[in-house]
Amino acid sequence: MKSISHYIDGKLTEGTSKRTADVFNPATGEVSAKVYLGGRTEVDLAAHSASKAFLSWSQTPPLQRARILFKFKDLIEKNTDRLVKTIVSEHGKIYEDAKGSLTRGLEVVEFACGIPHLLKGEFTENVGTNVDSWSIRQPLGICAGITPFNFPAMVPMWMFPLSIACGNTFILKPSEKNPSTSLILAELFTEAGLPNGVLNVVNGDKEAVDAILSHPLISAISFVGSTAIAKYIYENSAKFEKRVQALGGAKNHCVVMPDADIDQAVSGLMGAAYGSAGERCMAQSVAVAVGGIADSLVNKLKKQVEGLKIGPGMSSGVDMGPLVTSDHLKKVKGYVDLGISEGAKLVVDGRNLKKPQGYEGGFYFGGCLFDHVKKNMRIYKEEIFGPVLSVVRVDDFNEALDLINDHEYGNGVSIFTRDGDSARNFSSNIKVGMVGINIPIPVPMAFHSFGGWKRSLFGDQHVHGMEGVRFYTKLKTITSRWPSGIRSDPSFTMPTMN
Ligand code: NAD
Repeated sequence: MKSISHYIDGKLTEGTSKRTADVFNPATGEVSAKVYLGGRTEVDLAAHSASKAFLSWSQTPPLQRARILFKFKDLIEKNTDRLVKTIVSEHGKIYEDAKGSLTRGLEVVEFACGIPHLLKGEFTENVGTNVDSWSIRQPLGICAGITPFNFPAMVPMWMFPLSIACGNTFILKPSEKNPSTSLILAELFTEAGLPNGVLNVVNGDKEAVDAILSHPLISAISFVGSTAIAKYIYENSAKFEKRVQALGGAKNHCVVMPDADIDQAVSGLMGAAYGSAGERCMAQSVAVAVGGIADSLVNKLKKQVEGLKIGPGMSSGVDMGPLVTSDHLKKVKGYVDLGISEGAKLVVDGRNLKKPQGYEGGFYFGGCLFDHVKKNMRIYKEEIFGPVLSVVRVDDFNEALDLINDHEYGNGVSIFTRDGDSARNFSSNIKVGMVGINIPIPVPMAFHSFGGWKRSLFGDQHVHGMEGVRFYTKLKTITSRWPSGIRSDPSFTMPTMN
């Protein structure tokens, strides 16, 4: 049986913890490997390596750091097929989707290649007579990233390339469900010329996470995962005086206005609700049908959900792969059972999907569609994270707006409309971090920043883009006067620049 270890100080190491977890191939349901679950010892080793590496990495000119990032980008491109196949084999999503997610991660590397420009500070000559003032951004030290199962390459790549570009060193704790991609990325970064210890990967579960949270050498934590754990990370990072950004779960709505191009909306919804089997934090799990459009929307969706092609992620012509584990499949099925008992109408039932021939052990689940979902139902309030779309019917635009603004999550949202006033009113007044207008999955590009509102993000700064640069650096402002301007007499009043 293959075993998956850690990557510390530029090499693979099993560490000392003997605890392991099974890693599955979701397409077949078989255990493909065992991953070592690190703890305090492994985190401590990684932190000492990262601390030593920080001394010279933080002093390496940004242009030289960028040159290594350019080589890393090149190596990712050369190893795309290997990386994508690894994602598919441990996550289950289809090849093209996995490739798309790798590209979105690669775009953050491309953004980070611009670090010499991004770190240019601000300068004011003569803030007072003969006094100059400037601001610079300096790295924090060691940063850590704790990431979820659903994007094994993209979410880690939201974090470590930019953090490292800013002059920090990094410890990544990927999801124990699909740990292999992070190890390949770390090896490629070393091959690109990254000094040992600048990027470490410690595999593990809660034990490794707790060791990271309390480690005195670690300065900042980026977390992406479910809301309950995000809140735990946020509170405990603060307790141990660390900077933190903790991105949580979501329930993303798609408003379909009566004037919308309904075919365009249906096609957008299909990809956004069922792509990656709904295991996306930006998946649209609620369609809000406004006014008289609901029957037609549900009928068109029904036909397409029934026609979804479900199979192994490596097969061609497949729309949706399996779910990540059998436990997750049980959870999603449990929500569909719950929705029926809560009184919602199950229009398409994917629970008894016939599994693809030769893959009977895989974690496949068919697309489900609920109609007449109400705001007090748990299937509306909670994140299902599977291929289940709920239709909520509302009378008008204001009811749609209030419905979404009342929800505890605020990650992404979309509106389909042909009306400029509705679109403008919506983008101004909706309490959600990422908004799409006739765009089903409004994931910002790498040079903008990604993050939700409300209980979808704990902390102040979003990831990548300039918010990412600000998160991974601290500001220093220097005010300077040279001898010709120095007063000879002491001053006991508040300094002013007159
Ligand atoms: P998860 O919260 O179970 O796990 C995320 C990370 O936390 C993993 O590395 C895991 O090992 C660790 N972890 C799990 N339980 C822990 C505990 N008790 N104490 C400390 N650490 C713990 O999330 P997941 O199931 O891997 O991923 C799916 C979730 O991630 C969904 O809720 C999804 O919405 C969310 N997500 C959010 C975003 C976003 O940008 N907001 C992006 C991707 C995924």
